[in-house]
Amino acid sequence: MHIKDKLAEAQRTGKPVFSFEFFPPKTAQGVQNLYDRMDRMHDLGPAFVDVTWGAGGSRSQLTCEMVNVAQSVYGLETCMHLTCTDMEISKVDNALKEAYKAGCTNILALRGDPPREKEKWVAKEGGFRYAKDLVKYIKDRYGDHFDIGVAGYPEGHEDQDDEILLMDHLKEKIDAGGTFIVTQMFYDVDRFLAWVDKVRECGVNVPIVPGIMPIQTHSAFLRRAGWSNAQIPPSWNEALEPVKNDDAQVREVGKTLVAEMCRRIIDAGIMQLHFYTMNLAQATRMILEELDLIPKDGTPSNRVLPWRQSLGLK
Ligand code: FAD
Repeated sequence: MHIKDKLAEAQRTGKPVFSFEFFPPKTAQGVQNLYDRMDRMHDLGPAFVDVTWGAGGSRSQLTCEMVNVAQSVYGLETCMHLTCTDMEISKVDNALKEAYKAGCTNILALRGDPPREKEKWVAKEGGFRYAKDLVKYIKDRYGDHFDIGVAGYPEGHEDQDDEILLMDHLKEKIDAGGTFIVTQMFYDVDRFLAWVDKVRECGVNVPIVPGIMPIQTHSAFLRRAGWSNAQIPPSWNEALEPVKNDDAQVREVGKTLVAEMCRRIIDAGIMQLHFYTMNLAQATRMILEELDLIPKDGTPSNRVLPWRQSLGLK
């Protein structure tokens, strides 16, 4: 099912939905652990899961494999991220074919970050320059088979200081065929909601899925806010600073802060939350419990799991 339809249903019924993002782990053991965790997180009832694009070589192969496992083995509605970094068109074609074969019908089309060793992003010869080019290509090739999401930046993007131009570029991605926007993580709801208003003023009416980063440890909280340029409201620092050396306390206080932020988003009429799980379950689960969003009827757990054996899981 297309994500846009799931999001439209959530808006129509006023019942909030949530989704999880996973990334390809670096080791075989990490992959095994993640599959196990994905299984347990299935029971929390996500509307869909995303798998990030691990640019280059084996990481991108693993993205395709994880999409296949999540979609066709676990039966989770899956969205594959795809970037333009170091991707000539034949590689894009292969990735799309793999997603198609796996039964995945959702792609988050991105430009990608520069590879670690490079400071500036450079287009691959014979590849795409911007995410909108990738959106257009997927649309031209596959028509309506794939639902195509794009990235949005409530607090700006490092390559573009001009807020108005950045908004124009977001609109171009939607005009090219994007049907939903997933945002960069943020902690300041006021800034996020003000940005949503501006997006709407530009005539962009597709669903906006806010990116929520649970708080696992104090150092990771600061580091991730720094990476993504997310402003930290002063009250958050005041609440977290006194407990910063106690991870369990940080998670507890963080849960309350993030859940409150999610409540405000839902109260503003945005019925979807996208969790950057960092491949961990606990902090995300705590927030969902706090928000009372985990299904109680046991529906997700009732599934049959013969595939576990085929993956070598207990
Ligand atoms: P674009 O929309 O193409 O924008 C990139 C820059 O180019 C912007 O500064 C924009 O203003 C500028 N620009 C766009 N169009 C034009 C134009 N016509 N003329 C001039 N300038 C223009 N990275 C990964 O490597 N793998 C992932 O899986 C991944 N997942 C992500 C998921 C989400 C939800 C988000 C928010 C980001 C993700 N990223 C991922 C990071 C992302 O790839 C980077 O932030 C990247 O720098 C920008 O990607 P984009 O798709 O927004 O690019």
